[in-house]
Amino acid sequence: MANPDLFWLCLIFMVGASVGSFLNVVILRLPRGESLANPPSHCPACGKTLSFFEMIPVLSYVLLRGKCRYCGRRISPMYPLVESFTGLVFLYLGYRYGLTLTFFRQAVLLSLLLAITVIDIREMLIPDELVLSGAVFWVSLLVLSKVLTTWAQGPLKALSMFAIFTKATAEATFHTTTNQFDAGLLGPPTCSEGLMTSLAQGLLGGALGFLIFLVISLVTRGMGGGDVKLAGMCGLYLGPALTILAVFITFVLGGVAAGLLLLLGKAKTESHIPYGPFIALGTAVSSLWGEQIIRWYLGALLP
Ligand SMILES: [Zn+2]
Repeated sequence: MANPDLFWLCLIFMVGASVGSFLNVVILRLPRGESLANPPSHCPACGKTLSFFEMIPVLSYVLLRGKCRYCGRRISPMYPLVESFTGLVFLYLGYRYGLTLTFFRQAVLLSLLLAITVIDIREMLIPDELVLSGAVFWVSLLVLSKVLTTWAQGPLKALSMFAIFTKATAEATFHTTTNQFDAGLLGPPTCSEGLMTSLAQGLLGGALGFLIFLVISLVTRGMGGGDVKLAGMCGLYLGPALTILAVFITFVLGGVAAGLLLLLGKAKTESHIPYGPFIALGTAVSSLWGEQIIRWYLGALLP
């Protein structure tokens, strides 16, 4: 290809769209307790198993003009929407972070949040499986980062060559110092990895998110246990400062949406509004632009 950047952009979009394709399976099957692997993808109307060419993300939907090739039933636009949205999210993350650990963490977080959002809107529930896998994943990453850093400074120092290697690897993978906001267009992997909270910070953020939403759910009774657990998982990822920002964004957006829905008569009481999507949105915004928002806010406060 003449322009290698274009090739990378297409590749990363297709990787994201394929992840989105898997998210569709999760969205449809997880709430019903069905296996994610079996049976293979099929038309929900006629049950015909899809061929490889009918499972290409976004493209298949366009080529089939949104209809099943066998029975002609309309395919839900949710499939290409989730696929193309995930593709665009991956594209943005790749553009912003390059192929770094931050890219990987953010991609996992945002994919998880997207699946949770769509499931909560469709079914008014947040599957424990998704929240729990997120929590286990963040804690494992934080522990791994802690172990690598400690080893590099402690026992392995005796084996100096190995220590240098481990330290370099740990720093390259988990470094916490500066943020790199312009990693360039899929340039070489960068050493600086921002936003990687320490284990203590992660646990503090998780406890904070969990407790704030627990108190609110006890006071308002409009929020379910799923929302509280989700807030805890998001807090684990964000750390305390970004968690507080995410809670703030969640309530501003949730309040505006609830007000609009009540005004338009679409919802009778606040209890009929799923909060998962707002927690997800607050977390997404805080994880992507939280540091800039906080810096801007402090700058406005202390000129
Ligand atoms: Zn069909």
